[in-house]
Amino acid sequence: MSDLSISLETLALEQLEAIGSRLTKSRKLILSALEASAKPLTVTQIAKFSNKIAISSMYRNLNVLEKASLVTKIVNENDFAFYELDEHVLGHHHHLRCVRCGTVMDVELAEEIEQQLHKTAKSISKKYKFKNVEHFLDFAGACSKCES
Ligand SMILES: [Zn+2]
Ligand SMILES: [Zn+2]
Ligand SMILES: [Zn+2]
Repeated sequence: MSDLSISLETLALEQLEAIGSRLTKSRKLILSALEASAKPLTVTQIAKFSNKIAISSMYRNLNVLEKASLVTKIVNENDFAFYELDEHVLGHHHHLRCVRCGTVMDVELAEEIEQQLHKTAKSISKKYKFKNVEHFLDFAGACSKCES
């Protein structure tokens, strides 16, 4: 089992305290599972890292971590939920989903495309008088496991 990095632990303490919660052992285990993974995980996959937590309390804890802006939930069209560390921890990126098995991978776009999207968000914000406009962009296809 890998430990939580100092920087994530400090951030977690701060952000949980801000919503009146604590960094419990279970929350620490969940965060370290997500930190150790290179891609978003399902609750069952997180449970493999930390089998001491019951699935029901896992959902409760993930909920709290979401509220504390430490974890983001990604939901597929087939209602499959994946969890990953929040974007201000992981850095901005996009997702590639398999339409057959539901697996989700992180993908990074070329810098010039991100800049273009940023510009587009700005002009949309002006045109429609929306504040803090962000963009979300997903890709979907069949993964190599499902295609073989
Ligand atoms: Zn697949
Ligand atoms: Zn991601
Ligand atoms: Zn982007």
